[in-house]
Amino acid sequence: MSTCTACTDRDAGDRYLCDRCTTRLADRLAGLPDLYAELSLVPRVTGLAEVVTAAPVEARAPIDLTALDMPGNAAWKLEVRRRDIQRVRWPERSGPEPASLMAHCRWLRMELDWIAAWYPAAAELAAEVRKLEGQALTVVGAPPARAQRLGYCVAVTDDQGTVCGAVLRRYPGEPVRCRWCATEYRTEADLVLLRHYQPSEIA
Ligand SMILES: [Zn+2]
Ligand SMILES: [Zn+2]
Repeated sequence: MSTCTACTDRDAGDRYLCDRCTTRLADRLAGLPDLYAELSLVPRVTGLAEVVTAAPVEARAPIDLTALDMPGNAAWKLEVRRRDIQRVRWPERSGPEPASLMAHCRWLRMELDWIAAWYPAAAELAAEVRKLEGQALTVVGAPPARAQRLGYCVAVTDDQGTVCGAVLRRYPGEPVRCRWCATEYRTEADLVLLRHYQPSEIA
């Protein structure tokens, strides 16, 4: 029996993260790619040419350029963390190839059970992901309250039985549609199935 290394509050059994911190980390990793995709929709007030030629530039250039760099920085941060996890778990293998933020988030979610149990720096990963979420939210704002979170997409995306697992949200007047795999949940029967197949920790 030991205390969770992330919240330092709840019992984590023989693991590094308690169930609640593990679920929260899974949710954040699921939402991060969409959140960072929204950054590219934030209007650029200042074009690069203006940054170079206009004066004074000090006041506004850092904001726009930082927002533009954020997805790349987030992907890089998670790549560094993923490299460390792979070093602990498979010391004989080479590290990950550079990949998109979405790919890193997906990999981390797939390995989360192992990470929560065996990765000594799991709490650092949880803190990094929470910070990345917070940084993006300061630019795009909190998700609109009208979007209702339904759970995870349960569509099977290949013939290996891989489940999509993206976070699903319902907007009023729109069909429930996965933003990742484009599966639609239109009928009541679809939604019943969706609820039925949710991972047990959030059911
Ligand atoms: Zn915890
Ligand atoms: Zn999906």
